[in-house]
Amino acid sequence: MSEELYKQIEGHMRALKFKGMIPELSARAAAGNLLYEEYLALLLEEEVKRKTEVSVKTKIHLSRLPYLKTLEEFDFSYQPALKEKEVIKLSSLDFIEQKDNVLFLGPPGVGKTHLAVGLAMKACMARYRVLFTTAQKLIEDLVLSKRDGSIMEKLMAYSRLHLLIIDELGYMPITREQANLLFQLISMRYEKGSIILTSNYNFDEWGKVFDDNVVASAIIDRLVHHGTIFYITGSSYRLKNKLKKAK
Ligand code: ADP
Ligand code: MG
Repeated sequence: MSEELYKQIEGHMRALKFKGMIPELSARAAAGNLLYEEYLALLLEEEVKRKTEVSVKTKIHLSRLPYLKTLEEFDFSYQPALKEKEVIKLSSLDFIEQKDNVLFLGPPGVGKTHLAVGLAMKACMARYRVLFTTAQKLIEDLVLSKRDGSIMEKLMAYSRLHLLIIDELGYMPITREQANLLFQLISMRYEKGSIILTSNYNFDEWGKVFDDNVVASAIIDRLVHHGTIFYITGSSYRLKNKLKKAK
């Protein structure tokens, strides 16, 4: 191939944000071991693979996951009461397509956040828009936006996500004003986008968390209407090795 032609191709590739020629493929093609179409297919395949990887990495970065753990790393034998099949079924991400919610309820250390992160990673790999936040951070964000008059924009931004993870609802008591904002957000996403919510309280205890029982019930109502609830009742995984050592 002439140097001029090579430069021209490289220029086009840069313009398309392609990585560039792959010398190994060029050599095989030049030696006559690849048809034109085969060469092009392999080159494009590599580029698609690379672009997908970059896009997944970006999605994971933007989702602000607290740590990266997969569902495959979750030891279901440690939580025998948790229905493994039901959790694994969620990996198909149909619940995101159907705008359904998932709730993981149970005491600290049983893997609620891990399961939420595992599903979030799958969603990122499928290139959905995902955001992980805690109930406390989310509420702070909404309260600040309400004060500076940007609450509608903020609610819209949260609504555009395919999957919003609200972790640790219940660690902090929620005032009436805060509950109303949370209710607005959950109503806006209702049947429009999925929420994964984790809490160390069962619904019958949400009265302790919320100042306002009416809003609490309205929130539960919307979350549960199209939602799957997992009650994880086993013991804390954090204590697993400690208990073993103590034996
Ligand atoms: P929770 O959110 O319920 O308080 P986490 O999901 O943060 O608990 O779990 C605490 C730690 O234990 C994390 O590092 C998590 O990866 C790990 N963990 C919890 N349950 C399991 C499990 N069944 N298999 C593997 N790791 C687990
Ligand atoms: Mg947690």
